[in-house]
Amino acid sequence: MPELPEVETIKNEIIPFVVGRSIQRVELLWEGMVREQSPAEFKLAVIGRRVAAINRRGKYLLFSLDNGRTLVLHLRMTGSLITSPPGQAVVPEYTRAIIGLSDGTTVFFKDLRKFGTMRLVDNADSVTGKLGPEPLDPSLTPAVLRRLLKGRKAPIKAVLCDQEVIAGLGNMYADEVLFAAAITPTRSAGSLSIEETQRVHAAIREVLACAIGNKGASVRDYCRPDGTRGTAHLQFKVAHRRGETCLVCGTALGYVKVRGRGTYFCPKCQRP
Ligand SMILES: [Zn+2]
Repeated sequence: MPELPEVETIKNEIIPFVVGRSIQRVELLWEGMVREQSPAEFKLAVIGRRVAAINRRGKYLLFSLDNGRTLVLHLRMTGSLITSPPGQAVVPEYTRAIIGLSDGTTVFFKDLRKFGTMRLVDNADSVTGKLGPEPLDPSLTPAVLRRLLKGRKAPIKAVLCDQEVIAGLGNMYADEVLFAAAITPTRSAGSLSIEETQRVHAAIREVLACAIGNKGASVRDYCRPDGTRGTAHLQFKVAHRRGETCLVCGTALGYVKVRGRGTYFCPKCQRP
């Protein structure tokens, strides 16, 4: 599932192809992805609008349109956006929506599992308003993180994946963060000491910055807008390394379900 580094990469890489262009054509091959309006209303409302800016909030992509409305995309499990230069549009497999821009560029929303969504809203807050802070924002200090975790009995792994606590972390990066911070994923979030919280804070920044630098993790379906794969997964220490050994201590990696989420960890480096 695309998490913050993947969505950030997609945002950065589609901006040069999309911002400043107008939406000229919308083709919905899977109408179920449009959530707020009927497919016909949706098309009518977005066609002719210029994309003024693209931002990311948590795992959401926010396309600000020139009339003040926002087109909010969520890639969910298997979504990707592919850009195609003018005159080169070969429709990728599993394409669910095609957006044609005024300069001939085409954007394909491909999505194997069909959980991805598009919402056209007057105010993006109606979708993203409940999200917790951005993990890379300077306002998320160790002290703020401590307040967010305080009193929570849920496992730290589950709390890090809760979008209303911190926006953008998911299964893969929460595992990587907890390995980097040497914290057992099943520890209750509220039990972390000041020092441990500082380690988690530093690990969040380090792990996400590294993954953004490597253009996201192509463990399964994720690819960059030019169709190439990210390389962040090549740096994973625990995530998706089932059956392998810890790169630091050589111990066989553990795998447990934490609140239903498959979780990888090193039983020695992340000793309870
Ligand atoms: Zn280890």
